[in-house]
Amino acid sequence: MSEKSVLEQMRADIERALAKPLEQRRWAMIVDIEKCVGCHGCTAACKAENKTPHGVDYRFVKDAEDGEYPDVKHYFMPNLCMQCDKAPCVEACTDGSVTKGVDGVVRIDYAKNTGDPKVTAACPYGVMSTDEGDYYTKGTPKLEPYEDAATFEYGQEAGRKDKIGKNRKCHYCLHRIEAGMLPACVSTCIGEANYFGDLNDPESLVAKLAGKKGIYIFGADFGTDPITRYLGADEYHCAMCHE
Ligand code: SF4
Ligand code: SF4
Repeated sequence: MSEKSVLEQMRADIERALAKPLEQRRWAMIVDIEKCVGCHGCTAACKAENKTPHGVDYRFVKDAEDGEYPDVKHYFMPNLCMQCDKAPCVEACTDGSVTKGVDGVVRIDYAKNTGDPKVTAACPYGVMSTDEGDYYTKGTPKLEPYEDAATFEYGQEAGRKDKIGKNRKCHYCLHRIEAGMLPACVSTCIGEANYFGDLNDPESLVAKLAGKKGIYIFGADFGTDPITRYLGADEYHCAMCHE
C-alpha cells in the first residue's frame, strides 16, 4: 500500500480528533518557514474561504530580509492568529464576545461583538482586525456580490453585513475542521509549509513536530503563550520588524 501524503495524514489526524469530545482536542498549526516560498496562496485561499474584505487579512505573508551585505538572508513569514492561551484580545474584550475555546481556538461571537478598537489594538501580533465596511470593488461601476456573500465562520452562515464593524481574525477555519477538512491555507499551500492537527494526540503529525528541535515560539517575550508555532524560524529575527 502506498504511503499517505502529508495532507492525507493530517486529514486522518483531524478525523481521530473529531471522534473525541471537544475538550480533549487541542488544535494547533505549525508553519515551516524554510518551506514557505512566498507565493501568498494561503492568503488568497483564506480570503476566498472567509470572504475577508479590503483591510481585513486573517493571514498575510511578509517578505523579510535579515543581516547585512554580504551576509543577508531572505525569507517569507506567514502571520496568522497565534490562538494565545493568555490572549490579550480576550482580556481586552468587555462585551464577552471574544473567548478562548476549550479546543484552544480563540473565537469571536459576531452576534455579541461590538468591534471595540481596544480588542484590535490589544493583539501584539497585529493579526486582529476591525471590519471597517470597505470593499475591494468600491469606487468601481458595480460592487461585486461576492463581497457580500455569506461565510460559515464558527459554523454559522452569515453575510458580510453581519460582520461590518466587528473584530475579525483567523480561527483556523474551525467550520472546515469540524467538517473533517483542513484549514483552507493548509490544503492549498504548494510548499506543504503548514502542519495542522491535534496537539493532544501523540500520533498526530503536528504533535510529533511540536517535540522536534527547531520549533520556535514567535514573540515569546509577549508572554501570551501562543499555540501557533514555527519551524526553522529561530535563526531569523522577528519578522514584525520588517515591514
Ligand atoms: S501558500 Fe504556503 S508557500 Fe505559499 S506563502 Fe503561504 S505558507 Fe508560503
Ligand atoms: S494572536 Fe492576537 S488575535 Fe490571536 S489570540 Fe493572540 S492576541 Fe488574540
